[in-house]
Amino acid sequence: MRTTMTSHSSGGLQTRPPLEKHIVLLPGDGIGPEIMRVAVHVLRDCAAEFGHHFDFAEFPFGGCALEATGEPLPAATLAACRAADAILLGAVGGPKWDPQPIGKRPESGLLALRQQLGLYINLRPIDLRAPLRGLSPLRADRAADVHIDFVRELAGDIYFGEHRVEVDPSGERATDLAVYTTGEVERVARYAFARAEARKGRLASVDKANVLSTSQVWRKTVARMAADHPAVEVEHLYVDNAAMQLVLAPAQFDVILTSNMFGDILSDLGAALAGSIGLIPSMSCGPGPSLYEPIHGSAPALAGKDVANPVGMILSASMMLRESFGLAREAEWIESAVDRLFASGVRTPDTVEPGTAKVGCIEFGDRLHAEMAGAPGRQERTGA
Ligand code: NAD
Repeated sequence: MRTTMTSHSSGGLQTRPPLEKHIVLLPGDGIGPEIMRVAVHVLRDCAAEFGHHFDFAEFPFGGCALEATGEPLPAATLAACRAADAILLGAVGGPKWDPQPIGKRPESGLLALRQQLGLYINLRPIDLRAPLRGLSPLRADRAADVHIDFVRELAGDIYFGEHRVEVDPSGERATDLAVYTTGEVERVARYAFARAEARKGRLASVDKANVLSTSQVWRKTVARMAADHPAVEVEHLYVDNAAMQLVLAPAQFDVILTSNMFGDILSDLGAALAGSIGLIPSMSCGPGPSLYEPIHGSAPALAGKDVANPVGMILSASMMLRESFGLAREAEWIESAVDRLFASGVRTPDTVEPGTAKVGCIEFGDRLHAEMAGAPGRQERTGA
């Protein structure tokens, strides 16, 4: 049996048997299938390199599933997700389905999947990767040392409350109900405190407690829990101030804990600081299998043109290796190759800078394959 050398534990290198993992793929709509293909190649390379066995099964989800079955989340897709070791998702949605009412849209399938799998934590790391600092709209001194973990609550808030549209003398009257219970705040905050303890020990909780009742419950709960986490320095910010601080001085943040809606918006702002939304991965987790996806949408205008950036999808795959399978060394192997490729000047259209070479999504994947094959220390590890 092949074994893998790992240096996870403080005891130095240890042998570890190869892993067998079953991964469900949901390529989805728009650019989803293109970026998924690249990420799967990367995972196959990784499995071959380290002696693991990853088995992939693809299922329809989103707009393509709506077309094929009449449902954005078909029962077979949900059943496969429940039985997976982890799930990789491209993106769903597109203008074709925009006229559909809420509940019949591809995005409703995504909310249903999150609900069915109990995914209540959404981790979105915003790292201004060193070779791409020049892409940031921030001044160079502000762009240095920005590594923020957004912990976004994913199962509550205005996304899951009742949505109503009624007739009104002026036309229509619409309401969207936002709900948070103490328990819902506690469970996601517990994860954020643990994350902060494992990082720099700083937690910024973002709310709108000067206006919203849900935010008052949020702030009260996080403040109470802070007493049980003395190693974590906690601050509370209103979301408007948080948006400003993210642009003015993002390096002050370590872990940001926030609600579903504020996390959705602020993490896109964070992605813009990194240079492109195409670079940012995410993990959604709960009691069952975790789901990994780039934070961007289906980018319909880019679909089929071989111009999408696959890096958010690739880094979602490496996040899966680290967070779900405990394969930190394998994740590092992928991530360092991405950084070396960027540093060598190979760029997707959204990350191109003067003096760099623009390549498409497919070629980026091919170049990454070559870069990983030539990784420093490879011979020593494989004995090749
Ligand atoms: P989007 O993220 O698809 O696109 C926003 C902008 O970022 C566009 O300019 C797009 O071209 C660019 N972009 C996105 N991904 C990129 C990549 N990998 N490489 C280079 N550029 C990239 O957001 P949108 O336009 O607001 O939404 C499009 C569709 O996606 C909508 O139907 C929306 O509901 C859906 N959506 C789905 C998800 C999801 O599946 N999790 C998330 C957000 C939006």
